[in-house]
Amino acid sequence: MLIRLTYLSKATRDMNMQDIQDILTVARDNNQGLEICGMLCYDQRYFLQTLEGPRDDVNELFLEIAEDPRHDDVVIISYEYIDATTFGSWDMGFAPATDAFYKLLNDVGQNSFDPRALTPEQAVSFLSGLSEQHQTNN
Ligand code: FAD
Repeated sequence: MLIRLTYLSKATRDMNMQDIQDILTVARDNNQGLEICGMLCYDQRYFLQTLEGPRDDVNELFLEIAEDPRHDDVVIISYEYIDATTFGSWDMGFAPATDAFYKLLNDVGQNSFDPRALTPEQAVSFLSGLSEQHQTNN
C-alpha cells in the first residue's frame, strides 16, 4: 500500500543552504533504501514536504522527522492512499525560493510563502509544480 503524506513545519532557527544540504544528504541516502520519494521546500522559516512510498515506512520515517529538533510545529496537511508515486524521480527533491517558486506560489494565491494557509490540494499541487520544474531545469 502506497501513501502520500504532506506536512508543514517551522524551522527552529534560520536555515542556510548548508543546513538544507545536510538534511538532503541524509534524506537522499535513507529514502533511496526505503523506496521513499518526495519533495521538500523551505522559505520564510517554513518547511513543506511530501513523502511518498510504502505506508509503514513513510509513517515510521515521518515520526522520526517530526522529532527532529531542527523544526517544530509539525502539522500533517494531507494523508492519501495512492496507486503510484508521482514524485518518483526524486528520493528527495528540493526547491529553493527562486522566481519560479514564487510564480507557482502566485498560482495558488500567495505572494509570501505561508503553507499554513494552503488547502491540502494547493499544497500538493504546489509541490508537484516545483517537482516538475525542477526536473525540467536539471
Ligand atoms: P542522525 O542523523 O544521527 O540523527 C540523530 C538525531 O539527531 C535525530 O533525532 C536527528 O533528528 C537529530 N539531528 C541530526 N542532525 C542534526 C542537526 N544538524 N541539528 C540538530 N539535530 C540533528 N530524513 C530522512 O531520512 N528522509 C527525509 O525525507 C527527511 N526529511 C527531513 C525534513 C526536514 C524538514 C528535517 C528537519 C529533517 C529531515 N530528515 C529526513 C532528517 C531526519 O529528521 C533525521 O535526521 C534522519 O532520518 C537521520 O536520523 P538518524 O536518527 O538516523 O541519525
